[in-house]
Amino acid sequence: MEKQMLRSYCFECDKDVEYVVTKISGTFRVKDKNIKATIYEAHCATCGARMIVDEVERKNGHILFEAYKKENGLMTAEQIKALREKYRLSAVAFAKILGLGAKNVTRYENGAIQSDSIDRYLKMAENEEAFWACYKEHRKELTSTERAKSDKAYDEYEQAAT
Ligand SMILES: [Zn+2]
Repeated sequence: MEKQMLRSYCFECDKDVEYVVTKISGTFRVKDKNIKATIYEAHCATCGARMIVDEVERKNGHILFEAYKKENGLMTAEQIKALREKYRLSAVAFAKILGLGAKNVTRYENGAIQSDSIDRYLKMAENEEAFWACYKEHRKELTSTERAKSDKAYDEYEQAAT
């Protein structure tokens, strides 16, 4: 496999250069908390200057927010995604069922930090019985395509329960 060349703009060299990415562990400020995490730093392969590369910073943001959520007992993006997939719902459909606003689940899965009250809704959805009761009540709000997959998941749940 060909080695991928990572290139971006270095302010010191004043041109696009190759950069190298290294791991650094430390304590970082996230909102009101100090969070221990391992993040990534990009350095110019030519002059060694620290470089701010969008892709690397985005990844760091995600790592820090996930660590923040763990530290504060909030569901992480990965946990939310896994939960939603268990019910075979799209992010939009899952949000509709829980009454969270269509775009919100996507935001949390992309790393945005949910409030404590939203987190409680999400954790409630971990209880299958409670979730499916909520689903039955709100499935009318879904499109027929959204409904089809989850109805199947619901049937399977019911069969397993009886
Ligand atoms: Zn440089």
